[in-house]
Amino acid sequence: MPTPLIAGNWKMNGSRALVEEFAQAFRDADLSPGVEVALMVPFPYLEAAGRAFAGTPVALGAQTLSDQPAGAFTGEVSGEMLDDCGARLVLVGHSERRTLFGEDDAAVLARVKAALAVGLTPVLCLGETLEERDDGRTEAVVLGQLEAVFDALAPDERGRLVIAYEPVWAIGTGRTATPEQAQAVHAAIRERLGRYGDALAAGMQVLYGGSMKAANAAELLAQPDIDGGLVGGASLKVDEFLAICQSAG
Ligand code: 13P
Repeated sequence: MPTPLIAGNWKMNGSRALVEEFAQAFRDADLSPGVEVALMVPFPYLEAAGRAFAGTPVALGAQTLSDQPAGAFTGEVSGEMLDDCGARLVLVGHSERRTLFGEDDAAVLARVKAALAVGLTPVLCLGETLEERDDGRTEAVVLGQLEAVFDALAPDERGRLVIAYEPVWAIGTGRTATPEQAQAVHAAIRERLGRYGDALAAGMQVLYGGSMKAANAAELLAQPDIDGGLVGGASLKVDEFLAICQSAG
């Protein structure tokens, strides 16, 4: 069984004060050593968060990165810069990046490769829209997004990813997938990962995201193929996020 990972995605929210509040709370928290915790903070807070979270169990993450290593790309941030600021993980292919910023599978793959090239762990996000689910295309969409990346990676690269299944209709809507709905897709993801190797499939952290909160985390995390959570709104409230981390241990 992979170690559970609870990752908070602050999206375009938060402040220096919130970074400090989280650092304080996690310094004092009595968390099981069997749970990994990460926070994906906005770029401007990365460096302060890297310092503040030192000595806490919280690993630092970013929310996206450029597919380019350096150069004349105004406004972009490279993987090397994230690494330089202490980030260990980076989200890639979040549905908001795919839909609002036009990142297709090729763009997602390029960012996964850019992250791997500097030793960051890409957290590859997959998920179907409500229309796709209603059309019975959930597995085709999610597994297609998975294959678009995994087919193009070398065997030794594949094991360095984390996967997050986030049904688009459950993101920020308060409408969580039922544990059974989530488990069904997670099982399909793990089965498809088996094509790349049984050990890879068994060891891969596959997180669920989409309106996860303290009240529903335990039953989602109890599913056999759910290895953690990618938490949006509920990761902005320190007590709520801590409670989710505690329910994973
Ligand atoms: P919510 O938890 O706010 O639904 O967001 C999920 C998400 O997109 C995390 O990346």
